[in-house]
Amino acid sequence: MPKPLSPGVLRELWAIVGRDAVLDQPEDLLVYEYDAYLDRAVPDVVVQPVNAEQIVRVVRLAASEGLAVTPRGGATGLSGGVVPIFGGIMVDFARMHHILEVDVANRAALVEPGLFNLDLSTAVAPLGLYYAPDPSSQKASTIGGNIAENAGGPHCLASGMTTNHIRGVELVTRDGELVQVGGQAADAPGYDLVGLVVGSEGTFGIVTKAWVRLLPIPPRTVTFLALFQTVDAAGAAVSSIIGQGIVPSALELIDGPSAAALERAFKVGYPPEIGAVLLIDVAGLAEAVAEEAALVGKLCEAAPGALGLRYAATAAEREGLWKARKGALAALALIAPNYYLCDGVVPRSKLAQVLRRVAAIGAEWEVLVTCVAHVGDGNLHPLIAFDVNEPGILPRVEGAHDEIIRACVDAGGTITGEHGVGIEKRKYMPWIFAPADLDRMARVRAAFDPSGRFNPGKVLPTEAEAGTTDPSESVPLRVGVSAGLDPERWV
Ligand SMILES: Cc1cc2nc3c(=O)[nH]c(=O)nc-3n(C[C@H](O)[C@H](O)[C@H](O)COP(=O)(O)OP(=O)(O)OC[C@H]3O[C@@H](n4cnc5c(N)ncnc54)[C@H](O)[C@@H]3O)c2cc1C
Repeated sequence: MPKPLSPGVLRELWAIVGRDAVLDQPEDLLVYEYDAYLDRAVPDVVVQPVNAEQIVRVVRLAASEGLAVTPRGGATGLSGGVVPIFGGIMVDFARMHHILEVDVANRAALVEPGLFNLDLSTAVAPLGLYYAPDPSSQKASTIGGNIAENAGGPHCLASGMTTNHIRGVELVTRDGELVQVGGQAADAPGYDLVGLVVGSEGTFGIVTKAWVRLLPIPPRTVTFLALFQTVDAAGAAVSSIIGQGIVPSALELIDGPSAAALERAFKVGYPPEIGAVLLIDVAGLAEAVAEEAALVGKLCEAAPGALGLRYAATAAEREGLWKARKGALAALALIAPNYYLCDGVVPRSKLAQVLRRVAAIGAEWEVLVTCVAHVGDGNLHPLIAFDVNEPGILPRVEGAHDEIIRACVDAGGTITGEHGVGIEKRKYMPWIFAPADLDRMARVRAAFDPSGRFNPGKVLPTEAEAGTTDPSESVPLRVGVSAGLDPERWV
């Protein structure tokens, strides 16, 4: 339940952002209680600022009132990052979505954080440029949210994740100061604070502007499907492509059940009852692309269980294939009304082994698990499809999820490739970090935000989750609780 704010705080917020940009009615606040994860919590109030100066004033007010502050982009996050479990003020970037500057010569742009990812590439396409990180959510996720989560996407295999494409950010700190880290230049001297802020999930500060890198659109792209009898066969093809030192610009796996759902939803020509599909882009200079695509095709065809290749003959066909892949989660609603999307990473050499284990886990917990994956970089997205109305289903779904992530860790991988830790994966952090590692992270966080009230309850595990209740080895994991946040609200 939201806590009614004191009339004084409400009046001050009205004075800062304007009355129509403050939402405090229960029916309005309900819209802000979720992202694409399972947990829910309602903020006490939402503000929709138009510039950094307004955010500075909101943050100063929050500090003086002891209120939590949660920044919110498109709310497409899959780990509960935007769910305001301690209530407080939510800063919604819906009105800060502009491209402020495009510097063609230096291939850079200055943008506001609420800009939708795809809108940037669409706007600079006539200049022959694009913004490389392309999460499948790119129509609805924002540059600010992508920075906070260090988002990836199908084409990040060759071009790198969001962190490789951010040159600098303007940030509102917990003290209500406006600071700039990095900037327009390609490299900034001193400590790489941009690298720290990217992926900090809204816990270090609020990004109010970003200088992003743009890339030239490759002169030629060849897009094709490689079809296989089984996921194992597709995994073997991936290993041989990567083993040859070839890095296609995208290399995506779609398993049989996912391909069937995509075909029903998008009609892109996947054969019926196919075991697995690789969707491959090879991009670059025309001659090199032709040669590389031919080699990748041969390696796919040589894998045992290969069923042939299908090339996209036109730009429209290419777009259709990618539209289907990026719409995969929506299409999977044809299988079941609810899903829980796992995000784990495994060494590429262990792909086939872990995918077999994932299938076995689904069978053990009696849940349907399908899989899409940014398979080129070992980032698996097993998807547990279920109907929340089925009695007793949620513990089975959560049990299967735990075991899938455990299987990734046991194989030498990790707990998230791109969706962040948020609330969802706090409890898995001790699986990959020792208490001393978590302690370092907590100290870095405290250096940015000693009060712990920027997006509290995210990323770092609670003491119970970390299994450390002995005060002598106590780490400041529950950053924020000591600052007076309500312990009852921890989820
Ligand atoms: C269908 C679907 C497909 C997806 N595909 C991908 C994919 O391919 N790759 C991928 O990486 N992710 C993917 N995601 C997950 C999600 O889209 C990403 O995590 C994305 O980066 C979130 O952006 P957002 O604007 O929605 O952020 P939100 O969900 O609004 O917020 C995410 C986090 O960012 C913080 N935040 C938001 N704005 C700011 C700001 N200005 N300053 C500081 N912190 C801020 C929030 O507090 C929160 O912690 C997918 C999600 C869905 C639903």
